[in-house]
Amino acid sequence: DGTEKITPEMVKSLAERHFPLCMKSMQMTLNSTHHLKYNGRLQYGLFLKGAGLSMEDAIKFFRSEFTKAHVDPDKFDKEYSYGIRYNYGKEGKKVNFSPWSCMRIIMGNVSPGENHGCPYRHNDEASLKALLMKCGLEGSHLNDILAEAKAGHFQKACGRHYQATHSGIELSTGLTNHPNQFYMESLKGAKP
Ligand code: SF4
Repeated sequence: DGTEKITPEMVKSLAERHFPLCMKSMQMTLNSTHHLKYNGRLQYGLFLKGAGLSMEDAIKFFRSEFTKAHVDPDKFDKEYSYGIRYNYGKEGKKVNFSPWSCMRIIMGNVSPGENHGCPYRHNDEASLKALLMKCGLEGSHLNDILAEAKAGHFQKACGRHYQATHSGIELSTGLTNHPNQFYMESLKGAKP
């Protein structure tokens, strides 16, 4: 399908430059806590799969992060690699699951302590602002994005984030409909 392959070593810097805020924030959580809860592993794992990370590399990627903190390698292999193989259709119902769309993510529930979801929808204003500032947004860009989110225009807020971080270029649809669309367009735009 034209998707290029990515490797575990590439994920961190791709996240910084090309991921939408939902996925970027999960990578930031992974960097700082070396853990993601169940729904985060699903949402982020399927996104990375869509971005071209193979199953073997996904296991390698999450294994190296999770075992940096409290999960020992044995426990990882027993408890977590099943979920990754499941995402890739190798366990359970053997369905080749697709990455979640924005609508699916926005409509989902996020409990306290979980990091998946859409930050424009699920974060309160103060934590959304802090997250955007951490990603380098400021001034009128920051205020525009916050205003869209506050008005309930979550995908528009995401489109504005894209515009603000891609020298004014809009997404082809103007709106973000899929995290992997944001990623692919960003990647394409970065190519000479
Ligand atoms: Fe992610 Fe979609 Fe929300 Fe953007 S609008 S942060 S891509 S879920």
